[in-house]
Amino acid sequence: MEYQSPMYEMVVRQFDEAAERLRLDPNLSGRLRHPKRSLVVTLPVRMDDGRVEVFTGYRVQHDTTLGPSKGGIRYHPDVHLGEITALAMLMSWKCALMGLPFGGAKGGVRCDSKTLSRAENQRLTRRYTSEILLMIGPEVDIPAPDVATNEQTMAWMMDTYSMQKGYAVPGIVTGKPIAIGGTLGRREATGMGVAHVALQTAARHGLRPSGMRVAIQGFGNVGGTAAKYLAREGCRVIAVSNSREGIHNERGLAIETLLRHAEQEGTFKGYPEGDAITNAELLELPCEALIPAAIENQVTERNAPRLRCRLIVEGANGPTTIEADRILEDRGIRVIPDILANSGGVVVSYFEWVQDLQYYFWTEEEIVGRLKTLLSRAFEGVWTMSSEEKVTLRMAALMKGVRRIAEAMRVRGLYP
Ligand code: GLU
Repeated sequence: MEYQSPMYEMVVRQFDEAAERLRLDPNLSGRLRHPKRSLVVTLPVRMDDGRVEVFTGYRVQHDTTLGPSKGGIRYHPDVHLGEITALAMLMSWKCALMGLPFGGAKGGVRCDSKTLSRAENQRLTRRYTSEILLMIGPEVDIPAPDVATNEQTMAWMMDTYSMQKGYAVPGIVTGKPIAIGGTLGRREATGMGVAHVALQTAARHGLRPSGMRVAIQGFGNVGGTAAKYLAREGCRVIAVSNSREGIHNERGLAIETLLRHAEQEGTFKGYPEGDAITNAELLELPCEALIPAAIENQVTERNAPRLRCRLIVEGANGPTTIEADRILEDRGIRVIPDILANSGGVVVSYFEWVQDLQYYFWTEEEIVGRLKTLLSRAFEGVWTMSSEEKVTLRMAALMKGVRRIAEAMRVRGLYP
């Protein structure tokens, strides 16, 4: 299969274990192991210097049994079909676990967004949107931000789609600016959710915020926001990093000041209260909670034996390999899986989509309140299943997600 890759194999192996534990009908599990639809597109883009550069883009819809497919768009040099397919599958389990009426999808463009000017980024985004236009729509497949894409990217996507239709279609993407039908609370939702779930898990382990040292890999929309909320709750955030550098202060970093510094300067350098640290060192710091909130494949069999945290809260998608999972389980380090820990983003995306379809907008209190209710309910369900079935939290979360889709598939039957 063209989408075969180590990452795809990893998520399929996880799925197979969940399917086996659920004693899923092989006629159903066989279908869920493969994506429903994949599109590979070539994107010629005029660069500022007049050259035409050719990029490759993807959109994969893993499953649409429960409703339209949903998932982010990432811009990253390592994007490939196997990775996007694996991430689309994780979105299916995540949406199902959270009780949303969505299937899973993912998209991306292989590029280094840091080297693109704003104008190049806009032309790339518009060309990508028009090339995947045949596959997306508010009732079909709804993109959102992911690694290195943001509200502006979504605004360009919404505009490109709407220009083709001839009228404004706010429901085509989520994570857009409020000015064009975005929702209150979406920007912070993923990071806030990560913090909420981290504190809930910590409480089950008898840890209070004041007794928690937290290390966070990734200081973007997810890691930066989680850091802010955890610091506000009284945790000591002792280290953060981005793709190039990290900063460490055992007494705790002043997160709001550091966020402003990083925003203004584009680097941690010059921030006085902390020492430089590498990403590899950050992962191995002694702490209560480690939050990988960057990209996949960060906690592996190589560093898992050396980690010195009590909890891992997965802000990123797929940061822990299967081999690492086993080592962590043996070592008694609790892993709160991505599809639960970072689901706040897609939950508020769902709220945004509902508001767009109804042309009726909610207050921030309503949004945050409903987000916390959904997260707490999912957390309770996963925690209970994990202890009843004697499986890890990851396996419990997967089993719950997979079971919901499989049941819907069974009832719908096989076409024709
Ligand atoms: N990219 C986010 C994720 O991985 C959000 C997806 C969405 O809101 O559709 O969950």
